Amino acid sequence: MTILQLFIDSTFSDSESGNTRDIEYPADSTIHLTAAEASSADAERAIAAARREFDSGQWRHTTVAHRGDILRKVARRLLKDKETIARLETFDTGKTYAECEMDVDDVASVFSYYADQATASNGRVVDPSVPGISSKIVTEPVGVCVLITPWNYPLLQASWKVAPALLAGNSIILKPSELTPSTTHYLVKVLIEEGVEPAAVQLLLGAGADIGPTLTESPDVDMVSFTGGLETGRTIMKSAAGTVKRVALELGGKNPNVIFADADLPAAIDNALTAVFLDSGQVCSAGARLVVEESIHDKVVDELVRRAREIRVGDPFDSATETGSLISSEHRQKVHTYVERAREQGATLLCGGEIPEGDLAKGYFYPPTILDRCDQSMDCVHDESFGPVLTVETFSGDSDEEREKNAIAIANDTIYGLAGAVWTADASRAERVARQLRHGTIWINDYHPYVPHAEWGGMKQSGNGRELGPTGLAEYLEIKHIWHNTQPAVAGWFANSEDASATAGEANSGDN
Ligand code: NDP
Repeated sequence: MTILQLFIDSTFSDSESGNTRDIEYPADSTIHLTAAEASSADAERAIAAARREFDSGQWRHTTVAHRGDILRKVARRLLKDKETIARLETFDTGKTYAECEMDVDDVASVFSYYADQATASNGRVVDPSVPGISSKIVTEPVGVCVLITPWNYPLLQASWKVAPALLAGNSIILKPSELTPSTTHYLVKVLIEEGVEPAAVQLLLGAGADIGPTLTESPDVDMVSFTGGLETGRTIMKSAAGTVKRVALELGGKNPNVIFADADLPAAIDNALTAVFLDSGQVCSAGARLVVEESIHDKVVDELVRRAREIRVGDPFDSATETGSLISSEHRQKVHTYVERAREQGATLLCGGEIPEGDLAKGYFYPPTILDRCDQSMDCVHDESFGPVLTVETFSGDSDEEREKNAIAIANDTIYGLAGAVWTADASRAERVARQLRHGTIWINDYHPYVPHAEWGGMKQSGNGRELGPTGLAEYLEIKHIWHNTQPAVAGWFANSEDASATAGEANSGDN
């Protein structure tokens, strides 16, 4: 079996220790791949190589137009290799092949979008209105950027970081999840083959807990961009504090999907299913909290349960399958424990909630699960279970105004603030509610779509900074003010300045 290798100092190689890790296909728990397992020594080598490259300026001193052209080639190549990449992603994640194909389209759009940004204006002139002064704001790459990504959308999450970081001229060190290395490894090969300076890209595979501190504490790393869970985000923020490096965090979410009684119910119900059960709920923006007006609760929930029971869970490569497996046995157990605890805490299980037997027992499948009559006292409502589990809360009130206020209060009652949705036929209410929800993305009468042009990111403990859009590029740029005095003169602040001026004058005339 071939071993996926690290990429350090322009060379694919095994880890220094020779250690490897077997990668499972979560849909049947067989080993489908072996990957090199990096240690701290490999991380040190990667940091040193990235630092050397950035300081030598090979990649950053190419023109931004050149870097944009390369990103465009990368986009084309990814589309050309879509089938191969989607297969790799399916084997690593257990997601349906159809979904992985769509992910590759999204990844290519991200590279194309940032290729287009190469022509956007870089820097600006400011006019301080001082004679002889030219003053300008310029942008520069941040430096050595460590890019750490999770297992749920391995290539997509990498693209949100890699494309802007490389366009800006940074030197990058990529660290995908230990569970899903394949497509990031493939991306590195594509980057190099399509013309990115090899020395500007390092790839480390292996356990974040082992090599993470080396990367995040190093004084030679200028930035860490991380997507993953809240606890890991907190750890990274603390370990980066010692060197005050730039930290961008895209963390979890506990996202409310609010349905008012006047909503288009067939659309709201259908989208409520996609909101939470897409990719078996392993989506940071999953609409895992249904917040529904009490008067339509039964109608909505009965239909959701009927439809959820019909969702076809199974073989990710079967085109009839609608959702695949969870990522690992450990993760499925975590999800199941949330469901069991919710029942102990008073929630009513309406469907799902059992680990499947029979054909599905080989993999880490979990059925679409709905828990009714939930509230904030339950762990499954305030924690991110990150599985196919929908919790149902209701709101009511004596007036429209009161119902609206109560819905907003419930939807905002979370430490997270990543995404949410509101369903109503009343456009002005929709706008009012959208403005008051403390989440980074709000959908009105929709759920899940995103475009690379629009910023993505969280409020509160869902993170800081933004990916995508122009802000997603700005994250990887330093801003510098250059003040150029074309008529230098003595400042005249200190007492001897006139003497200094005279001395300088004499010296100058002597020279002449
Ligand atoms: P984790 O936080 O467990 O891991 C994310 C990445 O961090 C992995 O590469 C992991 O490596 C690495 N890591 C682990 N420990 C450290 C450390 N001490 N220092 C540096 N890196 C470390 O998240 P998951 O992979 O479980 O991903 C799921 C989470 O990601 C969910 O909470 C989800 O909401 C969030 N997410 C957020 C998104 C957003 O846009 N806001 C988008 C997608 C997911 P290893 O795999 O080896 O442990």
